[in-house]
Amino acid sequence: PAERVAHFKQDVWSLFTRLTLEHKAVNLGQGFMNFPPPRLIKDAASAAIHTDSFNQYPPPRGRPRLLKALSDHYSPVFGRTLDPTTDIFIPSGANEGIYCIFAAYLNQGDEVILFEPYFDQYLSNVTMNGGVPVFLPLIPGSSQEDGVIPSSSWKVDMNELEKAITPKTKIILLNTPHNPVGKVFSEEEIRAIGDLAVKHNILILSDEVYDHLVFSPSKHLSIGALPEYRSRTLTVGSAGKVFGVTGWRLGWVMGDAPLLAPVLAAHTRVCFCATGPLQEAVAEAFEKSDSNGFFDQQTKEYESRLAALTKPLEEVGLPYTLPKGSYFLLVNTSSIRIPQGFSFPPEISARGRNFEMCYWLLAEIGVTAIPVSEFYSDTNQHLGEDYIRFAFCKTDDVLEEASKRLLRIK
Ligand code: GLN
Repeated sequence: PAERVAHFKQDVWSLFTRLTLEHKAVNLGQGFMNFPPPRLIKDAASAAIHTDSFNQYPPPRGRPRLLKALSDHYSPVFGRTLDPTTDIFIPSGANEGIYCIFAAYLNQGDEVILFEPYFDQYLSNVTMNGGVPVFLPLIPGSSQEDGVIPSSSWKVDMNELEKAITPKTKIILLNTPHNPVGKVFSEEEIRAIGDLAVKHNILILSDEVYDHLVFSPSKHLSIGALPEYRSRTLTVGSAGKVFGVTGWRLGWVMGDAPLLAPVLAAHTRVCFCATGPLQEAVAEAFEKSDSNGFFDQQTKEYESRLAALTKPLEEVGLPYTLPKGSYFLLVNTSSIRIPQGFSFPPEISARGRNFEMCYWLLAEIGVTAIPVSEFYSDTNQHLGEDYIRFAFCKTDDVLEEASKRLLRIK
């Protein structure tokens, strides 16, 4: 195989999905929903599939109805009219959108700044496109008396960020709400990052796939909505996250026409166009959801799922970071002692202590989490090795069973 893929280790998603099935663990690993998508979007999808012409290639940019629905929904967010014919396109999932941004803007050796912990796909998307990742850890503040760490306390050291910038820096990747920390970046933080991007003429890739999953009273702010940063910002969103359909692989990339055009050019050559009929269904879901209260209702459900999961952690005294958005919960496992003599399969021990912790948890306690060391560079592995990530996009019965099992850690 080519060098660009030869060094890849097995991805954590496939590894922990397999182990979960083998051990019949409760799966709070990969972030997918085990509850059904809204009735409305499923009905719209079947209707679309039964409309024969919708089953052929859509335009590379996307089906006009979805582009229009996104423009209607996001124009107020950005405080300007997004032109559906120039300022938006539909990739096959947010991940492909991100890949295409790198394909469109990175020349060999160009640098991309990633804040750690980072969603693991960013790294391979950068390197497969000839880019060089530059890592900068978010530093957590100390916990409150009850062991809870506010996600807002995980901070970018802006002096370190400026030091990390070189003449080769092309893109800063901002992810808010943040996976896996659950941090929602404040306006002050967003402006500090944006100002550095302006000063050093750097593009901003803003991954906002969890933008509709922000817990009250926190508010999501898109950096592209601030006029100072608009012309250098590409914003990525995801139908999988907004409507609970992660397997549909539909996202969107939004930005000013001149900035977006090369990204669409890359997308046209990577997969030409995204799946057609499901675009109609996402369009319909947006058209109806803005007025039927779906987004508020969904956020409330996520808040109660979060509460169901933090309860057992408090009972067993495991410190966690309280997310303001996303459906992830970061837990500090430094106090857990794995019994001596417990044995691990070789593919686990080869990947360090954090993987061993997650393996023990799924095999002995019966709950799957994702090792957060996977979201850190080799150099900064030590910063992640105490943390594991639970996904709480799950039904109450699953969270209840997980809670019962987590109490066994006591
Ligand atoms: N974004 C999801 C997560 O972090 C899914 C990742 C994946 O399967 N590649 O869990």
